[in-house]
Amino acid sequence: MLCAACAINGLARYPHPGEGARSAPYASGKDLNSYATVRYQSGHEIQMHDMKTLKYLAAYPATVTDQVRRLIDNGKLAELLLKKYPASHDIRTDKALYSYTVDMKNQFLRQSSPLSKVVYDDKIDVLHQALGLHTLVSRVQGNHLKSKNEIRIGAVFKTASPAFLKMIVVHELAHLREKQHNKAFYKLCEYMEPEYHLLEFDLRLYLTYLDLVGKLY
Ligand SMILES: [Zn+2]
Repeated sequence: MLCAACAINGLARYPHPGEGARSAPYASGKDLNSYATVRYQSGHEIQMHDMKTLKYLAAYPATVTDQVRRLIDNGKLAELLLKKYPASHDIRTDKALYSYTVDMKNQFLRQSSPLSKVVYDDKIDVLHQALGLHTLVSRVQGNHLKSKNEIRIGAVFKTASPAFLKMIVVHELAHLREKQHNKAFYKLCEYMEPEYHLLEFDLRLYLTYLDLVGKLY
C-alpha cells in the first residue's frame, strides 16, 4: 500500500480546508527582480512585476501569499526564517535518521507496528512535490504475507532546521495509524508535536525560500 497522499499536495489541504486550492496564475522564473512589459493595443505600456509562483503556499489566501512575496522582494524572508530557525540539525545519515525516528515512535506510538527502514531518499524530488513517503511493503514469505513499514524522507530535509525534520518525521509516523490526511491524522500529529501546524506553515516558507532564492544554511 502506498501513501500517495503523502505529498505536499496533500499537506496543502490543511489548515485551510474551506478555502480551496488557489491555483497560482503567475509566471514562474528565478529572477526575483524581473519585470515584464505589457503593451496594450491602445499603445500604453505597463511594467508588471513578474510574480513568482509560491507553489508551497498555493492553498493559502492572497493576503498570506502577498505578504510572503513582499518579504522575498524586500530580502526579509531569510532574516525571518533564521531568527526562528537559526541552524540545521546534524542528523545526516540514514542510520542517524533511523534511530531518531525509532526514538520518536517509541515515545509516542509504541503500539504501532515496527519500522523496518527509515531513509533519506533523494528520489523524492521536491519538484514532484513529495516530501516524504510512508510505504507499507507487503511481501509473501513462505505462507505468510509479511508487511514492512518503511519511511522515506525527502533528501531536502538533510539540511533543515531540527524543527522541520521533526515535523516531517511526525507526519510520516502518523501515517502508521492513519493513511489519509483526515482529522484523526492531524490530531495524531499534534499529539506528537503540539506546534505541528505552525511548523508546517513555516516549512512551506522555508521551501519557498529554497525554491525562489536558494540555500539558507
Ligand atoms: Zn502524508
